Amino acid sequence: MIKRKVVLHFPATVVEQPFIYTLAKEYNVVANILKANINPRKEGRMVVELSAEDQEFNAAMDFLHSRGVQVLPLEQQIIWVEDRCTQCGACTVICPTNALWMKRPEMTVSFCSEKCIVCERCLKACPARAVEALYLSGE
Ligand code: SF4
Ligand code: SF4
Repeated sequence: MIKRKVVLHFPATVVEQPFIYTLAKEYNVVANILKANINPRKEGRMVVELSAEDQEFNAAMDFLHSRGVQVLPLEQQIIWVEDRCTQCGACTVICPTNALWMKRPEMTVSFCSEKCIVCERCLKACPARAVEALYLSGE
């Protein structure tokens, strides 16, 4: 089984074709769309998590390439926005790697990006939206 987050770029000539439907129907690929938009030049961009058995996943990638769809790997990074943080500590309790941690005795929250495994638990736990996910595709 392969599960991968990617950025798909659709040229204007194919942007209206039902690629996600075809991936599901012909290749048994499950697509979880994280973000999608079409720019003024009618080119499409979609951030999506795709999963399928190895052979079907690779065949689906070949299908996308053959139709002119560019597939770029996606890396995700967690950003801590210190100005928005209310120091409530909720994220430090659920962070599995102590990437978000409570400094003692000061009792202030800090973030170490090198320890972060991008599990996204803090995104859901933070009431102040002080943690954000940044998608990087090397574009
Ligand atoms: S994404 Fe996970 S590992 Fe990274 S800071 Fe948030 S809770 Fe910790
Ligand atoms: S949950 Fe949000 S507001 Fe609370 S300490 Fe963590 S980042 Fe700051």
